[in-house]
Amino acid sequence: MQFDIITLFPKMIEDACTHSIISRAITDNLIKINTINPRDYTHSKHKKVDDTPYGGGAGMVLMCQPFLDALASIKKQKNTQTIILTPQGQKFNRNMAKEFSQKDQLIMICGHYEGFDERIRTLSHAQEISIGDFVLTGGELPALCILDSTIRYIDGVLGKLDSADYDSFEDGLLEYPQYTKPRIYNNLEVPEVLLNGNHNAIAEWRKNQQISKTKKNRPDLWEIYQNNHKI
Ligand code: SAM
Repeated sequence: MQFDIITLFPKMIEDACTHSIISRAITDNLIKINTINPRDYTHSKHKKVDDTPYGGGAGMVLMCQPFLDALASIKKQKNTQTIILTPQGQKFNRNMAKEFSQKDQLIMICGHYEGFDERIRTLSHAQEISIGDFVLTGGELPALCILDSTIRYIDGVLGKLDSADYDSFEDGLLEYPQYTKPRIYNNLEVPEVLLNGNHNAIAEWRKNQQISKTKKNRPDLWEIYQNNHKI
């Protein structure tokens, strides 16, 4: 799968992609990551990519020409999705990550400063995506979050042992608590049920833990789960 990321700060993306599972996926040719800098496409003599907002107000607004020409420069594949990162977008979730992982190409447009001239959204026909109800200084971290969570669903990126199948959200609930050695740490013991090898008892304990954690931390998810399972 190919990721094309339009950003004024390509090093933020490139540096982050030199580590851990993302880097391994690149080496294994499972994914390819390109960055495109709108500053390389601006017609302005001074490499300008932003200007003051019409109507007044704080900050600088990203200009149409450099961003839309950067987008036009990307060779589109057959099965392409284009998204624009903005706090005003639909909230990103695991279902979107799974859906994106089925594409051949994901193009992501990162904003900065006060954000985009509205016509970038209109003319790019990109899906507006937010990673949550808070405002970051730029779209690079959101793009990396989306990249990272999407590649987890690409065959071969996670080893079998790291499978995404049992992670939080996969069955509509948060994950159960996990423990590793030692058995006792600071007087806190691993629950007995995990030590006895009784797989049915372990499965039942884990399910109950998932339910109580989801009820406590994410009542919104618990309500959906109850409706889906007619509880
Ligand atoms: N003035 C904009 C607003 O209130 O909607 C916020 C601009 S923000 C400071 C600069 C850029 O960071 C945005 O254009 C977007 O690309 C990115 N960004 C910030 N928060 C984000 C979020 N929660 N999700 C996705 N992108 C975000």
